[in-house]
Amino acid sequence: MNKPILTSDKITLTLKESISEERQGEYITLHFDVPEAIEEINVRLIVKNEKGNTIDLGLEGPSGMKGWSGGARRSIFVREDRATPGYLIEEIDPGKWGVVLNAYKVKGVCNVEVKVDMQPEAPRWIKGDLHMHSNHSDSPYSLSEVIVNAKEAGLEYIALTDHNTFSQNEAFEPQEDLVIIPAVELTTNRGHSNFYGVKKPFNDFRCQSMADVKHVIAEGEANGALISVNHPHCDHCWWEWGLEEFEFDYVEVWNGPWRERNLRTLHWWQSQLGLGKRMIALGGSDKHGPDEWIKYGGPTTFIKASKHSPEGILGAIKEGRACIASSPEGPLIDLEINGHRMGETLLVSEESSYLDLHVTIESFNGGRMKVYSSDGLSFERTLNQGNHRLTFQVKPSNSFYRIELWGEDKQLQDFTPQAISNPIFLKTTGADSNG
Ligand SMILES: [Zn+2]
Ligand SMILES: [Zn+2]
Repeated sequence: MNKPILTSDKITLTLKESISEERQGEYITLHFDVPEAIEEINVRLIVKNEKGNTIDLGLEGPSGMKGWSGGARRSIFVREDRATPGYLIEEIDPGKWGVVLNAYKVKGVCNVEVKVDMQPEAPRWIKGDLHMHSNHSDSPYSLSEVIVNAKEAGLEYIALTDHNTFSQNEAFEPQEDLVIIPAVELTTNRGHSNFYGVKKPFNDFRCQSMADVKHVIAEGEANGALISVNHPHCDHCWWEWGLEEFEFDYVEVWNGPWRERNLRTLHWWQSQLGLGKRMIALGGSDKHGPDEWIKYGGPTTFIKASKHSPEGILGAIKEGRACIASSPEGPLIDLEINGHRMGETLLVSEESSYLDLHVTIESFNGGRMKVYSSDGLSFERTLNQGNHRLTFQVKPSNSFYRIELWGEDKQLQDFTPQAISNPIFLKTTGADSNG
């Protein structure tokens, strides 16, 4: 099976065993060491001379058997969030592991080779869509259709944000190559908000008052959900509860195709960052049914996560390592100042005069790059199509830097954002620091 999750930095081992006829009926363990921070283990059994030989396959970890597939499979994998049926879904502990073989039938000498691939945890961009619906609310698509559509769009994760219901989070089938994040869109009569990462973050959606909304949000937070205010400046369902009444950590800056409502939210987010708030921008298509304009992954939220799992992706969102792009093809923005990345806070001394802002851009069709800070639009440049590595000297006195890429949207026939980064935050330290 071709699994995109295994990257070039995987560790590959080959274990060989020559099994003679006298050992028929014996369980044979081929041991291997698993280092710290391994995301996935893949095992493939190759029996060199199949004729008259039957070798069964299983796997054990440091604390016991992980699973058994007998003669039914030649290839299996385990991860903390998913595994081949027959194998336990558990954290991958470092230590001594073993491929367990059963020499069920052996004629003469049977030579076997076992390939073990281990994927170390390592930060890389994972693309997905944080907002979509299924027939568990008001979309015509079943969960399996949503999953097929998301994979066809090239997405690597999705969040199932059906309106006011949790049944989708119980019903979906875990996928080998698509991470599904349990979610719900709290849909009140006066505004919407996504809750991510928990199958049932609150008991009852029926908010009739501000106090009800605050109660549901507090309940979701206590249950560990990440909560974003959705399309808060939408013409039809804006956040009528009053944005100033809440301390949202996440905001859906980009909902579906780029529209005026998104621009209003972008401006509002900029103003909130200017007030010193640490608010992370997210995006999602809000795809319901067939629609010429609204597409899976339009926009795509790229997350720099160390693990392709709900925990890995949500953890990276919490850190703010997210960049929103118009499609799964990008473009992609990464930022760095003094080793600090998007979402991080860099402490700067009052004495430092300038900082180097390093910008990496991939797959841009060309257009304008706009650098925003707590000063507003700090500067802009025209960039050609392609990849770019740029360094700019910036003032340390601003409380954040972030980037927007604008270009021509062929479908909308308009000049629109193609990507929006999250900020690197700056905090001045020094004798006279006022925090
Ligand atoms: Zn909504
Ligand atoms: Zn929605």
